[in-house]
Amino acid sequence: MDFNNFSNISFIEKGINDLEKITEPDRPYTRIVFSKEFYQARDWLTEQFNLLDLTISTDEAGNLIGLYNSKVKTDKIVIIGSHIDTVPSGGRYDGIAGVVSALNVIKYIKEHNIDLPFNLAVYDYLGEELNDWGISCIGSRGIAGVLNNDILSRADSSRRVLSQEIDKIGGNSKLLNNPFPIIKNIIACLELHIEQGKVLENNKIDIGIVRSIPSISRYTVTISGQAGHSGTILMNQRADALVLASEIIIFVNKLALKLSRKSNQHFVATIGKINVYPNSAAIIPGLVELTIDLRAVSNNSRDQFINTLEKKIISINEVSECNTTLKDIAYAPYVEMNKELNILFKSSSDYFGFSSNIMDSGAGHDTAQLARVVPASMIFIPCKDGLSHCPEEFAETSDIAKGTAVLIKMVLNLVNFK
Ligand SMILES: [Zn+2]
Repeated sequence: MDFNNFSNISFIEKGINDLEKITEPDRPYTRIVFSKEFYQARDWLTEQFNLLDLTISTDEAGNLIGLYNSKVKTDKIVIIGSHIDTVPSGGRYDGIAGVVSALNVIKYIKEHNIDLPFNLAVYDYLGEELNDWGISCIGSRGIAGVLNNDILSRADSSRRVLSQEIDKIGGNSKLLNNPFPIIKNIIACLELHIEQGKVLENNKIDIGIVRSIPSISRYTVTISGQAGHSGTILMNQRADALVLASEIIIFVNKLALKLSRKSNQHFVATIGKINVYPNSAAIIPGLVELTIDLRAVSNNSRDQFINTLEKKIISINEVSECNTTLKDIAYAPYVEMNKELNILFKSSSDYFGFSSNIMDSGAGHDTAQLARVVPASMIFIPCKDGLSHCPEEFAETSDIAKGTAVLIKMVLNLVNFK
């Protein structure tokens, strides 16, 4: 079957083009959650929902929802979602391709006047990307009931409290401690996403069917030293927090390399964020905060990593002038996607004659949070050179259209899914 009979390339292209214009002008493509640009993008999405005549709402976790009601009265629902926020200087496709393709699915179902025995919704999950509150996947964690008060009461560098931002966008932060009641009615949560790696492109495969998403843990390492005059405090009198931080950065990198070789499974650790205080050329750094981002398929490697790092910090504290602490700030467990949904994804892809393979995700996604509580799965489409989280990120519209056709066929196949 020709996929062009299902998905609409020009509709997809217009969606991508519209959203890429909504960016911080000096820093394309930047649309950080709760920013002015993010609100503008939500207005754009609301307009798209209106054009499709969907019922629009925001749930307690601040997810924006466009609902296409079944003609039969039912509470059962299929959700297709992704995210419209970006990382700073991010790309035009990460998350966005998934939201635009979800709109295309509903457009197709409406235009063909197809009666579904379930309601169908497009979700823009709130704040999927890691933010200044040290948390990713705010909206999907909310649905799964795994946002706790420690996370919700965090303030960012501008003293904005996460719970207040969620309330401002239409959520209700007081109702986020339990899984949402809707989960008992969810037949499936589906997502299309760019791969953000090179497997599909290198092997010329159209569709990646995701088997698993690794655990993601984030930790803050805080190193407290003593700030002082860079000219008068002698070298042997210093408690320089940044010098010690550099040792820890190298230790983390070497440890992760060792564990990834030993386990022979996906295991990566990154320190990509450093806050230095007071961050001034003529002052000895008095305080440093590092964020460790750790992703692992195996809980064993993860535990080994943390145990080794904790021991290292204890031994550093015994001899150093600085005091170092390690704090767990976020965790998403390793999850497997729903196997029955993946069988359906495979037959939906085969229907168009696409090549497909089953693969593990390296990145985290909203679907990983949702898979903890409901049947969920996702597909990947190729992106150029595997680049993502950068302005060079690129996916062919025809590849997004192929994935969209698979999603449409998938929704049709779900009619008989029990
Ligand atoms: Zn994404």
